[in-house]
Amino acid sequence: MARYTGPVCKLCRREKQKLFLKGSKCYSEKCPLEIKNYPPGQHGTGRRMKFSEYGIQLREKQKIKRIYGVLETPFRNYFAKANRQKGPTGENLIKLLERRLDNVVYRLGFAPSRKAARQMVLHRHFMVNGRIVNIPSYLLRPGDVVSVKEKSKKMDIIHNTLRRVKDNPYPWLTVNKAELSGTFNEIPEREDIPVNVNEQLVVELYSK
Ligand code: SF4
Repeated sequence: MARYTGPVCKLCRREKQKLFLKGSKCYSEKCPLEIKNYPPGQHGTGRRMKFSEYGIQLREKQKIKRIYGVLETPFRNYFAKANRQKGPTGENLIKLLERRLDNVVYRLGFAPSRKAARQMVLHRHFMVNGRIVNIPSYLLRPGDVVSVKEKSKKMDIIHNTLRRVKDNPYPWLTVNKAELSGTFNEIPEREDIPVNVNEQLVVELYSK
């Protein structure tokens, strides 16, 4: 399964925006974006870069892919699926990405980042409706219950992350911290999803 393995903080610096790819470091003063808020590379501090319309659309697509940890081909597949659904394609796209199991594990507070969540799902630490699922891209449906496998319930990473998470921070999810489980109650509305991107630019990009 392909995935990006390069330095992730560079990705945030490229987008000049925190993409929250590294867990607790993202919320601390150690976040490089707190120190050097300019793009990486030898021209990063030089003249201000001007993007064409195409460039702006492309950057927005890259940003969404990086936030959710999705590579180009699966991203195109999500877009095609979003386009076939009723309603605005851009909103459908974000809603589809939000339903991914690795994203939900992260949002429930069982992993410090989506990348860590992906690893933990691959290592078979989670169940959906009582059955182990090791596919990070598995799309959850309303009513699905995600739980930590019995043997994995003592993992420090889960308890350390949960400790920092408020009770039920997202209206479409219910977390049961005692049981180490959570319910995906419903597909969230776009305005409730705290992801600072303009998905309409991706729709315009793919409409060319
Ligand atoms: Fe991005 Fe987190 Fe690295 Fe900061 S610490 S640059 S938010 S990945």
